[in-house]
Amino acid sequence: MIHGHAALELYRTIQHGRCPERTTPMIANPTHRTYTSLDAAYDYFNRELFGGELPPCLITMQRQKGAYGYFSGERFASLANPNEVTDEIALNPATFATRTPPEILSTLVHEMVHLWQHHFGKPSRQSYHNKQWAAKMREVGLVPTGTGESGGKETGQNMTHYVEKGGRFSKACKTYLAAGDAFLYQDRAGDEEATKTRRKKAASKTKYTCPGAGSTPGRSRRRPWYAAIAASRWKPNQMRAAIRERTPATRRPNQHPRGARSLRFQAGESPGAASPNRGR
Ligand SMILES: [Zn+2]
Repeated sequence: MIHGHAALELYRTIQHGRCPERTTPMIANPTHRTYTSLDAAYDYFNRELFGGELPPCLITMQRQKGAYGYFSGERFASLANPNEVTDEIALNPATFATRTPPEILSTLVHEMVHLWQHHFGKPSRQSYHNKQWAAKMREVGLVPTGTGESGGKETGQNMTHYVEKGGRFSKACKTYLAAGDAFLYQDRAGDEEATKTRRKKAASKTKYTCPGAGSTPGRSRRRPWYAAIAASRWKPNQMRAAIRERTPATRRPNQHPRGARSLRFQAGESPGAASPNRGR
């Protein structure tokens, strides 16, 4: 395992299909290198900015429209043991090409503040960035803003931030990037003009934010189980069986941890009939 000052290795996504002609060698172990580098960055900022108190989490990359990243508390459960859960921090690689390494890492830390609040603070209702969150952001050296500019509102549903000059994040990030051979693949061609154009286009088209803690964008309203059944291709008798079986469970919502419940449902075990996932 690489500790501390590992290189930051991120790949931009190629937006329109085919690979360009292969003039450079393929990179060995891109999955390992990418995720190891993000994991090392998480550990580093956890130590430097949070006193090492944050529990580990699962970092994923999601091309989520309009989002630099998001946090989702206790999003994953172990298949082997549904009581074993972990949080998700997602980063959007479609935004890597138009952002600098410190900007990308600042999004990681923004989501880490959500994770901190999830475990040690008081998050508001889903998707809301509240005052406690804003105060912690400032403490780690990020200034919350709804507009992306200074002077924007510090609390709200969809929020972003900018890096405080000379603040804790700024200093820690500089040290981190200076100590590793940090480089990002989107700039490999050294094509500054193309990067500038992409930056302008991205800035004019989409407003990127963080949609808030506890939710996955586009799914902030969790689909109830009966709607999931209705949307499935079960036959009426299978649906009736599923509804019959699931009704008492909903009256005892604390019986299963969240992860366990959705796991059971996704496995299609409740109706005792053909699984809705058959043919997958
Ligand atoms: Zn956020």
